Amino acid sequence: MADKIPGLDGKNLQAYQTDMLPVYAPELLRQAELAAGRAYAPYSHFSVGAALLLAGGEITLGCNVENVSYGATVCAERVAIWSAVAQGLLSPEMPPLALAVTAQPCALCLQVLSEFVRPDFPIILPAEGDFGAVEENVWQVWRLSDMLPRVFSFNG
Ligand SMILES: [Zn+2]
Repeated sequence: MADKIPGLDGKNLQAYQTDMLPVYAPELLRQAELAAGRAYAPYSHFSVGAALLLAGGEITLGCNVENVSYGATVCAERVAIWSAVAQGLLSPEMPPLALAVTAQPCALCLQVLSEFVRPDFPIILPAEGDFGAVEENVWQVWRLSDMLPRVFSFNG
């Protein structure tokens, strides 16, 4: 697990998500880029990293891990989410604060993420690339509902 981001203590998560975004977004992206460097991607040669900022300020990292079967390949975002769950740091009652990813998340990962967060959950992407930047400069932020307006649920 990576270091905690100073100043995050989980007391007011919604305020942190908005007010502290400029503070934690660059560090979270840096951690995601670090994780991308650890990706196991011998088939696609497309390395992706993810950094999930948790309620207590912890960060779990994920990278894509490919497999010769292709179908067993897992995305960086889900690796970070599952790691957080396995460490007892993430549940619907303990939602994360933000997710930084080095590439556009796929719909499968967004669906998994939706299990734990509200529709306005912030997803941070690098400013470079053709993402249609919302925040100019080093990073940009999207809401989960921007990327996946409708999620699957038993409630329709
Ligand atoms: Zn994915």
